[in-house]
Amino acid sequence: MQIAVISGKGGTGKSSITAAFATLGNEVVLADCDVDAANMHLIMNPQIEESTVYVAGEKAVIDQNLCSGCSMCYDYCRFDAVKFSDGKYYIDEVSCDGCRLCSRVCQEKAISLVKNDKSRMHSGSFRNGKMIYGRLEPGEENSGKLVAMVRDKCREVSEKSGIDTILIDSPPGIGCAVISSITGTDRIFIVTEPSLSGFNDLKRTLELVSSLGIKHSVIINKYDLCPPLSDTIEDYCREKNILLSGKLPFDSEVVHAMVNCKSIVEWRPDSQISKTLTKIWEKISE
Ligand code: SF4
Ligand code: SF4
Repeated sequence: MQIAVISGKGGTGKSSITAAFATLGNEVVLADCDVDAANMHLIMNPQIEESTVYVAGEKAVIDQNLCSGCSMCYDYCRFDAVKFSDGKYYIDEVSCDGCRLCSRVCQEKAISLVKNDKSRMHSGSFRNGKMIYGRLEPGEENSGKLVAMVRDKCREVSEKSGIDTILIDSPPGIGCAVISSITGTDRIFIVTEPSLSGFNDLKRTLELVSSLGIKHSVIINKYDLCPPLSDTIEDYCREKNILLSGKLPFDSEVVHAMVNCKSIVEWRPDSQISKTLTKIWEKISE
């Protein structure tokens, strides 16, 4: 069974909730698909067994021995990636889009394109199963493709290890990387919070998930920070016939758990939030 935890915006507590599910009960294959800002490994401290290079597009480089300093590349680059300093032109690899225009206009053939190969996919074991995560380097692109690579690896590891449950921490938002992280899953938890932006992003996320026809339900995190808005979200779910899996209270111990590299269910198993999360997870595992 493949279960994804998603949210329309960052900061809702999606990763804390995923971490709790990952450390409750039977072993899981845990996937951190938030490749632009992977951080689950900081809590789970996995033992890395395999690292794979991920080639994420190309970037331009200038051969200073061939450059005549004509400034054509500087004038033509639409991404302001060509810089001039100490009497030399050079290319800022974070800003470079790899469009190749500079290499076409350079009369000296001083510009070549090289592969972005700093991003990695790591695979290993953590305290409750296996873990796979991707890390996209700043400025490297095609996050959706790296997410697909992580998910392929999860299926392979699941088959080899005999661990049936694949648990996915998706990136926030509703973009390509999110779609790549949830396509073909069996179940999705959508995490929201009682704020206007949280509610708005929940509606957009529900549209996306409904269009993919995947079974889903909503978790309202930190519901007690704004009970009226939380009630509005609950009413909305009821009207639209969307299952509400649970409401979690704000608990500052969640932060303390993270700081101590634990999930909240490991750190404070008797707290209300841990009990609610346990109930939600037990229900899906039945
Ligand atoms: S276009 Fe070529 S020769 Fe001109 S500044 Fe750029 S790298 Fe140098
Ligand atoms: S490849 Fe495109 S984005 Fe990169 S420096 Fe050349 S013109 Fe600019």
